[in-house]
Amino acid sequence: MPLTVAIVGRPNVGKSTLFNRLVGRRQALVHPTPGVTRDRREGEAALLGLSFRAIDTAGLEDAGGETLAGRMQAQTARAIDEADLLLMLVDARAGVTPLDAHFADALRRSAKPVVLAANKCEGGAGAAGLVEAWRLGLGEPVPISAEHGEGLSALFDALAPHAGLPRDAVEGGAGDGGADDGEGALNLAIVGRPNVGKSTLVNRLLGEERVLTGPEPGVTRDAVWVAWSWRGREIRLIDTAGLRRKARVTERLERLTAGDTHNAIRFAHVAVLLVDGVEGLEKNDLTIARQIAEEGRAMVLAVNKWDAVADRGGRIGEIRDRLERSLPQLRGIPVRTLSALSGRGVERLLPTVFEIYEIWNGRVDTGPLNRWLAGTVDRHPPPIVEGRRLRLRYMTQIKTRPPTFALFASRPAAVPESYLRYLTNGLREDFGLTGVPIRIALRKGRNPYV
Ligand code: GDP
Ligand code: GDP
Repeated sequence: MPLTVAIVGRPNVGKSTLFNRLVGRRQALVHPTPGVTRDRREGEAALLGLSFRAIDTAGLEDAGGETLAGRMQAQTARAIDEADLLLMLVDARAGVTPLDAHFADALRRSAKPVVLAANKCEGGAGAAGLVEAWRLGLGEPVPISAEHGEGLSALFDALAPHAGLPRDAVEGGAGDGGADDGEGALNLAIVGRPNVGKSTLVNRLLGEERVLTGPEPGVTRDAVWVAWSWRGREIRLIDTAGLRRKARVTERLERLTAGDTHNAIRFAHVAVLLVDGVEGLEKNDLTIARQIAEEGRAMVLAVNKWDAVADRGGRIGEIRDRLERSLPQLRGIPVRTLSALSGRGVERLLPTVFEIYEIWNGRVDTGPLNRWLAGTVDRHPPPIVEGRRLRLRYMTQIKTRPPTFALFASRPAAVPESYLRYLTNGLREDFGLTGVPIRIALRKGRNPYV
């Protein structure tokens, strides 16, 4: 039985948009005419490696009942009845409304599991709404943008445990409450330009470990993932077509498109960017690195073919320099040298991947964070703009993976980029958040909770 997920929420939060993204437009047409009573739409949804049956409840609010609450109840009651899981959407740009709270109450009273997603979060615009959404009492809101396709791997992470994925698929996972209980699998992508040695590395990694599940279709059209267990931790490796199974070279090069790389990065928690040590860091390597940072993924730079590098000291210095200059936001990312061919250095790769994964998942408590903010602002106060000093009032971490903070300021738009960099660098150093992207979303006002 596939999992049935109902997408619920008040009108206009983006339910249909999300449904269309998950199910595809061909299966589910949107009727643009306002006020049209629609039949409920259902379809087979695909989200990365997960497939489920999705129910779109948009439009049902027009279907029955006389009061708003009555109509809402009719809609949610149906959804609650038929679904295994309720995916509640709120509009992070609009903030939490009383109607959202009504929905949340109804869902919370049901015995069904609920995943809360805050939509319209693209470009950081929903940060305040994301904070507010915690108040609904439905757990951590997952920031997404249905329209832009952002946050889908976080949504996958939130939904997957309810589908029995991936632990049911992995030996020793479901029953015995393994070492990674509550943490789930680490999604790993190995990316890089053609010929840097990705296939060789993947074969070496998998050659030493038993593959517990076969390739599963579905992550992207041409990609599969492979799950295996490493020191009791589960790893899901996104395998873009041909990585393990060597197809003819020409075919392989054709199929490993930039789109595949991007998909792999979006699926990943940690991306290993493999570069060719003989050739050094090239422009295309940096392009991929930038993509990894923009997607907010943790990254490890692996310098391959180390066996064939003559001036090792010079090469590594050059690579670190170039990286630091071109992508200062990636300061401190771990760099590992290895030879996929001989296997030398490969054993240090996965420990590094897990270390950076922990940092990427890191959470800083609000108390210490605000003590830190006070000290940091004291040491180097924000500038005076138009005769008044900017006030930074309160900071809270609104999200992990990557660490994302909301900073409440008197005039958010006036906080200069350079000051944000100062804060970001401080966070990095003082809370040990080295080597992962850090985001700060500026909001106007004070602590939203008081
Ligand atoms: P529904 O009534 O909950 O089904 O909402 P719709 O899917 O019809 O979306 C309502 C409006 O929000 C439409 O104008 C969408 O284009 C817009 N919308 C949906 N998702 C997003 C998003 O991720 N970001 C932004 N900015 N707008 C969105
Ligand atoms: P991909 O296109 O990134 O998957 O790269 P491949 O794994 O197909 O490797 C491209 C070429 O680099 C092959 O000829 C490999 O034998 C070679 N290669 C891969 N890893 C190493 C290494 O560690 N050292 C050396 N010297 N050659 C390597």
